[in-house]
Amino acid sequence: MRRICGEYKKLTSDHIPPKSCGNGKKVNVMINEEKFISQNGFNCKTICEKCNNELLGSNYDKEFKGLYDRIDSFKNSRIILADNILIDVDIKKF
Ligand SMILES: [Zn+2]
Repeated sequence: MRRICGEYKKLTSDHIPPKSCGNGKKVNVMINEEKFISQNGFNCKTICEKCNNELLGSNYDKEFKGLYDRIDSFKNSRIILADNILIDVDIKKF
C-alpha cells in the first residue's frame, strides 16, 4: 500500500501520537463504539517502515517530542502558569 512515499509496500505499526510522546503504555481505545485495550500505546498500520522510521521518526516526530517535553516539563514544576503560553514549533512539521 502507499500513503506518503507513493510506493506499494507492507505497512508497519505507526504510533499516533509518536511513542516518544508518552504513547507507549496501555491505553483504552474506542473506534466506532467498539472498545479495546492496546498494551503498547495507540498505533495503526498506515505507512511503510521507511516512511515511519526515516521520514516521520527522524523529522516530524522530533518536533512533536520537543513540544511534548516542553509541556511535560511544566507538569511537575511549581511555576504558576499564565492562561496562555507561547511555545515555538515548526508548524510545517505538524
Ligand atoms: Zn512509505
